[in-house]
Amino acid sequence: MRLFVMVGAPGAGKGTQAAILARALGVPHVASGELFRAAIRGETPLGRQVQEFMGRGALVPDELAIRLILHRLAEPDAADGAILDGFPRTRPQAAALDAALARRGAKVTGALYVGVREQELLRRLSGRWLCRAEGHSYHAVDHPPVRPGVCDIDGSELYQRDDDRPATVRARLERQLPPMYEVVDHYTERGILTAVDGEQSIEQVTEVLLRAMTQPAR
Ligand code: ADP
Ligand code: AMP
Repeated sequence: MRLFVMVGAPGAGKGTQAAILARALGVPHVASGELFRAAIRGETPLGRQVQEFMGRGALVPDELAIRLILHRLAEPDAADGAILDGFPRTRPQAAALDAALARRGAKVTGALYVGVREQELLRRLSGRWLCRAEGHSYHAVDHPPVRPGVCDIDGSELYQRDDDRPATVRARLERQLPPMYEVVDHYTERGILTAVDGEQSIEQVTEVLLRAMTQPAR
């Protein structure tokens, strides 16, 4: 089983890279934020529970995030692994993932930390466009779609997230960065974290990540 975890601030490029890496490895791209947004769109009970947290840039309670992801990882297409994007975001989530994998005789193969400074995160999020179907990520300047407003990959419509507005972005960074650093510590302590400079081009970041994924952790 090859299960990689992408760690990074909102806007660091986790989703962009996870989509590329998942295709390269032939495993699903599992993005917790996308799963929550789908639950909100579908007006499910989970969607109603998480909407308010997401709207104000807070993390949703660990229990809900853990349940969602473990349920997703139990689906057949994830039997050989996955690229996790946006989970775990807290230490208890990381511990719950370890425990669930241990029950399957498995463990996290590697954690990939994509580092980007705050000013660049703000710039990226203010220009981000996502596709409605799968959440493929574009940027108005750095990574525009071939046809304006249309996803290159699946042809669906592109939209801007409500929580990418500057005020909510600041709240997300303030609330979400401290627990993210604890997740970095969690995987550093286990010797499976690789940190990459996320302020390179998309292609360069992919190259470094693919190299890290095929080498033993430092
Ligand atoms: P995350 O999933 O970590 O929140 P995304 O993958 O959605 O971040 O990327 C945030 C924004 O930055 C998107 O608009 C994306 O197109 C853009 N982006 C991603 N990686 C890079 C990069 N290496 N250089 C410039 N822009 C990038
Ligand atoms: P993302 O698309 O990864 O930026 O996530 C969007 C929002 O969903 C976050 O700001 C959180 O409110 C929520 N969320 C996503 N993943 C998690 C998680 N693992 N734990 C808690 N909240 C999450």
